[in-house]
Amino acid sequence: MLTNTPLDVSETELPELEQALADLGSPRFHARQIFQWIYRRGVTDFGEMTDLGIELRSRLAQQMRIATPEVARHERSVDGTTKFLLRLADGKFIEAVGIPDSPGDTLCLSTQVGCAMRCAFCLTGKMGIDRNLTAGEIVGQVRVLTRELGLLERRFNIVLMGMGEPLHNYEATMKALRILADEYGLSVSPRRVTLSTVGVLPALERLATEPFMPNLAISLHSTTEEQRDLLVPINRKYGITELLDACRRFPIKRRERITFEYVMLQGVNDSPEDARRLARLLNGIRSKVNLLPLNEAAGIPFTRPSDDAVNRFAKVLADRGVTVSVRKSRGRDIRAACGQLITESSKTEAPGRRLAMMM
Ligand code: SAH
Repeated sequence: MLTNTPLDVSETELPELEQALADLGSPRFHARQIFQWIYRRGVTDFGEMTDLGIELRSRLAQQMRIATPEVARHERSVDGTTKFLLRLADGKFIEAVGIPDSPGDTLCLSTQVGCAMRCAFCLTGKMGIDRNLTAGEIVGQVRVLTRELGLLERRFNIVLMGMGEPLHNYEATMKALRILADEYGLSVSPRRVTLSTVGVLPALERLATEPFMPNLAISLHSTTEEQRDLLVPINRKYGITELLDACRRFPIKRRERITFEYVMLQGVNDSPEDARRLARLLNGIRSKVNLLPLNEAAGIPFTRPSDDAVNRFAKVLADRGVTVSVRKSRGRDIRAACGQLITESSKTEAPGRRLAMMM
C-alpha cells in the first residue's frame, strides 16, 4: 500500500515490517536484517544498513522512518545511576533511568507522559497525565539507553517504574514488550521485565491471560481501604480486597512471586501494627515485599521514616515468614529515584527554563 506518511519502523513488530517489505516487493527476510541493525547495532539510518541492496536502502529511506527519542539532557549520580531527559517527536519530555549493579544493569522506563493515578506521595502524579507513550516510544527509551550506556549486545533488566502507569496504557505497553522480546532485536525475555502497577483491575485481569508475561509488582502501600483510598486514589475504584483476590488468581510461574511495593511514610503507614496487618493480608499469596522508604521532595507532604523504623517494620514481616527487602534509593542526588520523575509539559515555556526547572 502506498501512503504519504512514511511507516515508522520503531512502532512495528517484525511481522508488520515483513508485510511492509512484501508490499514493496522485497523479500520478507530483510525485515530481520533491519531489526538487527536497529536493535543490536543502534543504526537508524537506512543508508548505513550495508547488507541491504543500495536500491532497497534508498526506497526504505523514502518510504519508512525510524523515530528515536532525542537525549535532551543526561545526568549521572554519584552512585552511577544515569537519568535521561528525552524529547519525543512532538516535543514532549519523558525521563528514563539507567541503574548499574542492581545487581546487573537495569533500565527504568516510562510508559506515559505524566500519570493519571495521583498517588499522594509521587511527584509524577502531580503532573497529571499528558498522553500515553506509543510502543515505539517505550522501546525507543531502551534503544537510546543501551546506546548511550554501552549496553548494546549486553544483558539487562527492565522495570516499568518510570513515569506513568503501565496498565493505564495497556496496548502500547504489551506491544513494546513483544518488540523488546523479538529474537532478531533486543531479545529481552519477559522474565527480565518487571511491570509495576497500582492495580488497574480490568487490565490486571487481562494481563493474567497474556501468553507473554512480565514479572508483576503491585504498589500496595497501605493495609486498610480507608488509608489506601487517600494514598493511592484508584483504590476507591478497585480496593485492596479485590486487588489481592486478583493477585491470588494471577497465574505466576513456578518459583516466582508477586512483589508488593510498600512506600514507607513516617507516622502514616510504618507502625509494627501496619506490618502485622500487611503480613496477614499477603497470607496465601506467593509474594515478597519491597519496602520503599519515601524519597522526599518539595511538595510531597510526607516524611521518610528513620532506618530504624524501616528495619523494625521489615523484622515484623520477616518474623512472620514474609520475604522482605528494602529498596536502595538510587540516584536521589539527581532526582532520579522512585517517584521523583517529573517533566514540565507546558509548550509555551522556553526549553531552557523548562530544563532548569526540572533538574
Ligand atoms: N505507576 C506504577 C509505576 C511507577 S513508580 C506504580 O505505581 O506501580 C514505581 C514505584 O515507586 C511505585 O511503587 C510508586 O508508588 C513508588 N513511588 C512513587 N513515589 C515515591 C516516592 N516519593 N518515594 C518512594 N517511592 C515512590
